Amino acid sequence: MRNAGLGSWTARRAIISPDRPAIVFGERVTTYAELHERVCRLASRLRAAGVEAGDRVAYLGPNHPAFVETMFATYVIGGIFVPLNFRLTAPEIDYQLRDSGARVLVHGPECAATVQASTVAGSLLRVVPLSAYEQWLAAGQAQVAAVAVSLDEPACVLYTSGTTGRPKGAVLTHGNVVWNCYNLLVGVDVAGDEVTLISAPLFHVAALNQCLLPTVLKGGCSVIMPAWGVDECFDLIARHRVTWMFGVTTMYADLARSPRWESADLTSVRNLIVGGAALPEGLIRIYLSRALTFCQGYGMTETAPGATFLEAPETASHVGSAGVPVFFADVRCVRPDHTDVEPGEPGEVQVRGPNVTPGYWGNEAATAQSFADDGWFRTGDIAVVSVDGHYRIVDRLKDMFVSGGENVYPAEVEAAIFEHPGVAEAAVIGVPDEKWGEVGRAFVVLAPGHSLSSSALQDFLTGRLARFKIPRYVDVVDGLPRTGSNKVRKAPLREIPLPS
Ligand code: ATP
Ligand code: MG
Repeated sequence: MRNAGLGSWTARRAIISPDRPAIVFGERVTTYAELHERVCRLASRLRAAGVEAGDRVAYLGPNHPAFVETMFATYVIGGIFVPLNFRLTAPEIDYQLRDSGARVLVHGPECAATVQASTVAGSLLRVVPLSAYEQWLAAGQAQVAAVAVSLDEPACVLYTSGTTGRPKGAVLTHGNVVWNCYNLLVGVDVAGDEVTLISAPLFHVAALNQCLLPTVLKGGCSVIMPAWGVDECFDLIARHRVTWMFGVTTMYADLARSPRWESADLTSVRNLIVGGAALPEGLIRIYLSRALTFCQGYGMTETAPGATFLEAPETASHVGSAGVPVFFADVRCVRPDHTDVEPGEPGEVQVRGPNVTPGYWGNEAATAQSFADDGWFRTGDIAVVSVDGHYRIVDRLKDMFVSGGENVYPAEVEAAIFEHPGVAEAAVIGVPDEKWGEVGRAFVVLAPGHSLSSSALQDFLTGRLARFKIPRYVDVVDGLPRTGSNKVRKAPLREIPLPS
């Protein structure tokens, strides 16, 4: 086969399943034949604008069919796609445009102000707002042959969420993405023509690689939501007979809390995919009571993203597990000296396989730091592995602290704090302490109408947690600093001086 790259996918689908719907967006339905034609037109316009093989093309905006078309058009001409987080500020976007060396930017109207404030956008070959997109695309050629690429060549640069520092541009090769699709399709029971609800932002690796691309590979239909909304989600599931979707815990919690939960028609749904954090047991039980199971995964941008996977039939038997290694990857859990841990002993998760990034775009230092000497990718996450090989993600290595010689995993402390009915959000960090080395400091956002003193929270935690895990300091705050993908950023919390 001359070209196995992602740039060949729409052409292949246009031959195999030309009349099947590829994308549904509001009232608009695009078949695979139409998608391919639009992708070709766009590809020829990108080329005419001066984009060459290996050049970067960025997309900035909420979910929209233009995201998918821009991505495939970039691949057709052998370019590298750079999806950007539309929740970032202009200086943050400028950093990523500069860092990736983007040459063209396509953007939605929601991001017009960001683009206007950008100091980089003006120097690009071309900036295409969606208001000019249709006209631009229409002038392109209906047939363009995809540039042949090897699976080892970069397909995209995906910026990490920036939870532990500045987002890093992880390079994913065509092969990384393809193998991740296979890993997902091995783990998910795909029964036929899938109808996938794209309910999470496409700029993030999860919606893109765990949802959209496997659907295209199978010739399924992607129903694209521009933004998350509970009512919209229920409506679209019922209207299009959605068979699978990807979501994070808060989205599944939103659905279960909705007054429409009991009456909603979810009979078409076969697979709910979840990642990013372990699902709480209570939520799992609510879904199980409607015979709905979850495919749960653990992964990250750098592993394209699947590293471990828990298949749906195991939802009830393995609550809290992030699953076992995906089919085509090796996963290990090791001590700092890289020897394997015993079952139940916390260690760092490391991954090796065809889904693992070759490194960060133009950042050799970060790349070198992220790989162990023997080539395994260091995830920076701590897990414990059970006797039957299941991974439970404990916390990030960077967030762990040591109090009186004992390791404290803030995620565990945060989970215990969440059990207090007066707590809406919580984040725990370690702070220096003369006697114990480090002690815990909790930042707590209260639920509306509640008050909570430090000692009341500490009393609540006594008996739930060992003494050394109970935060010495409790700060009630109005909100927590978050990343564009809504994860808590702990670095700014570490800058806040302790009350004297
Ligand atoms: P940055 O690398 O910039 O600090 P990030 O790691 O949050 O940001 P992502 O690649 O979006 O960026 O997120 C991957 C991380 O999310 C994993 O390394 C892990 O810490 C966490 N994660 C993913 N899946 C799970 C899961 N099932 N359970 C617990 N944590 C998870
Ligand atoms: Mg990370």
